[in-house]
Amino acid sequence: VAKQAGGNRLRAFDSVQESARQNLVEQRARFDAALNDGELALYLQPKVNMRTGTVVGAEALVRWVHPDKGLLLPGEFLPAIDGTETAVAFSEWVLDSALSHIDSLRRQGLEIQVSINIHADQLRHRGFAEWVLAHLGRHPGVRPNQLDLEITENAALYDVNYVAGELAQLRAIGVSVSLDDFGTGYSSLAYLRRLPIDQLKLDQSYVLGMMQNSADQAIVQGVIGLARSFGYRIVAEGVESVEQGILLAHMGCLIAQGHGIAAPMPAERFAAWAAAWRAPADWMESARRLPD
Ligand code: C2E
Ligand code: MG
Ligand code: MG
Ligand code: MG
Repeated sequence: VAKQAGGNRLRAFDSVQESARQNLVEQRARFDAALNDGELALYLQPKVNMRTGTVVGAEALVRWVHPDKGLLLPGEFLPAIDGTETAVAFSEWVLDSALSHIDSLRRQGLEIQVSINIHADQLRHRGFAEWVLAHLGRHPGVRPNQLDLEITENAALYDVNYVAGELAQLRAIGVSVSLDDFGTGYSSLAYLRRLPIDQLKLDQSYVLGMMQNSADQAIVQGVIGLARSFGYRIVAEGVESVEQGILLAHMGCLIAQGHGIAAPMPAERFAAWAAAWRAPADWMESARRLPD
């Protein structure tokens, strides 16, 4: 009897797994359709220089403008495409739309750098550099240094030699590379040293934590120091308040991105937003007193 019950439990477990798998297959099919039907949009979130009060760039963040469910965030649909051909098709769409937006911003008089998030599956794909170059070739109005590639430590760690070689080719023609969510992955400084990058993005968990505890503040200070000595630019993400911005600027991180400046917005609204934006007065007042 006990053996039989165990067997039933096993069958029940199998069917839970089976329905989870089925669910993923269905989610992916719906996403595939959305990709083909033009339901995806790249939103842009500004990055600003806190000393000069200027808009220096933007990060492209995907949104699914769902006909019934409204605006869906990447955390709700990207996990379903990991390790599938859809991840490759999606990456094509992201790079192509980002380059189109850069071009259209230029025609509106705004020449800025736009960062895109590189899917781990795409980074590991053979011929990654060639793929980016081919897309740049189709957008002659875009200078390579207007494109920034955000990669995560964990994606790069998969095959450091391959990834480092591909990134080096891209940097050689001026494409910029950022390490996203810095401080949350598993890479060591030894790996970091081997990656050819231009910029570190300080993860929002530290930006949040530094206001509450001295350990996180020490980490932020340490990462800023590390970036300095390696010659990397540094940008803080998840900046929600003027106080956070001021503290970061005083610690030596001048570029900020977060809801305190603006939430990600439809790309079509970005130029008007950038033209109208003024840095908060107490922010600028504090930045004037920064040491050089
Ligand atoms: P990420 O690249 O680290 O993006 C930053 C996330 O923080 C975004 O979430 C952004 O909306 C959010 N954020 C910005 N400012 C604030 C703030 O002040 N406070 C808080 N709490 N959050 C803030 P989002 O758009 O949901 O994207 C989540 C992740 O999905 C991204 O993390 C990125 O890893 C991935 N992702 C987004 N778009 C793409 C894409 O086009 N391609 C790929 N491969 N991944 C993407
Ligand atoms: Mg990012
Ligand atoms: Mg990030
Ligand atoms: Mg993040």
